[in-house]
Amino acid sequence: MNGILGFIESFSCDYFCTICYATQEQIQTNFREEHFQLRTEQDYNQDVASLRRETLQGKKHVRGIKDECMLNQIAGYHVTRPGSHLGLRSRLDLAPKRLESRLSHHFMARLDLKFS
Ligand SMILES: [Zn+2]
Repeated sequence: MNGILGFIESFSCDYFCTICYATQEQIQTNFREEHFQLRTEQDYNQDVASLRRETLQGKKHVRGIKDECMLNQIAGYHVTRPGSHLGLRSRLDLAPKRLESRLSHHFMARLDLKFS
């Protein structure tokens, strides 16, 4: 899924998450969404602009983004909106267990809301 969205595909790197800027160190000690800096459309656009400049210098990604997401051209969709790509994932039937566990810092917060 990360590859389709233009993000790095290694879950052992910092910034692997398409929803936030989680580092490996942070996911070891934080388990709730509010402890992570969520990606915004503005952040995303700045990262893409940096990517365009820095790939000329050999950099492979900027804060996890390696290509601009072409799906952003679809009306109402943006890769930084969690509902957008989680819905897309279910429509494409792309739900590898590894992805689910790596995104648990987001799902945990939503589960807490349901049962509180
Ligand atoms: Zn995240």
